[in-house]
Amino acid sequence: MIVTQYVSELRRLRSELSPPVGLVPTMGFLHEGHLALVRQSQEECAATVVSLFVNPTQFAPTEDLTNYPRDAERDMRLLEEAGVDLVFAPQAEEMYANDHETWVMVDRLARRLEGATRPTHFQGVATVVAALFHIVEPQRAYFGQKDAQQVLVIDRMIRDLHFPVELRVADTVREPDGVAMSSRNTYLSPDERQAAPVLRRSLDLAERLWQDGGRDAEQIRKAMVEAIEAEPLARLDYVSITDARTLDEIHMIDRKALVSLAVRIGRTRLIDNAVLPPGEPLLTGGSPCS
Ligand code: AMP
Repeated sequence: MIVTQYVSELRRLRSELSPPVGLVPTMGFLHEGHLALVRQSQEECAATVVSLFVNPTQFAPTEDLTNYPRDAERDMRLLEEAGVDLVFAPQAEEMYANDHETWVMVDRLARRLEGATRPTHFQGVATVVAALFHIVEPQRAYFGQKDAQQVLVIDRMIRDLHFPVELRVADTVREPDGVAMSSRNTYLSPDERQAAPVLRRSLDLAERLWQDGGRDAEQIRKAMVEAIEAEPLARLDYVSITDARTLDEIHMIDRKALVSLAVRIGRTRLIDNAVLPPGEPLLTGGSPCS
């Protein structure tokens, strides 16, 4: 495994890899969710590049950039054990010049859900992913459904800017009690960690109601809100049922829907989601392959 923090060196090393090359963008502090993306890339591609970069522009000034968990040594060990070919771990200055002023802005999709309270988040995500696509030139890129809105934003960007990259989406990897794996789970105290399964429980409830024929989005939403409010340590940010393609709120679940929620447990904000009908892929058709 070769590791570099420099764009020019990455480009040189990348040019020696045989296609198809898979890219797995991450912010490090790796867990099984990240490693599942790596394995999928390795199964589908001749070479796998992983980026480790805590992207400052996707954090608002009030968010956890400086405290975001980091353990580069452990990350490198896990990637080496996984058999990754190339790791790109740049410093912020390598990705963003002092006078950086170019942004990739996905408009409507990025203003929904997470974007409502984090207005600059997806601009930061789309910009860094576009830069990584230009630097690594992967044929495929691997993202987790855990961040479903991110998947839709990147899919839109790939189509709108004609990136020759196929977007591949992996299922959310969960702890045995249903909690979606996340680097941010390390912020939870033992009591808070015990409360965290409430997100998956409320999504299970939505799936059950849908299986029983429930199609009234407001009724399902209400049931989910009650489930979350029953957990004393949880403070609901939003529960939303939207068209899975446009992220427009829907009243009747008469098409593929995305149920998403954000919940604060103590000072940690957790997100999770499920697609209805259960088991349907988030993206249909996927992004165009090169
Ligand atoms: P992050 O390091 O949090 O930016 O995540 C990097 C990639 O891993 C993103 O595409 C995430 O959606 C994905 N990811 C994070 N958590 C999980 C999980 N529990 N299961 C599957 N993919 C995940």
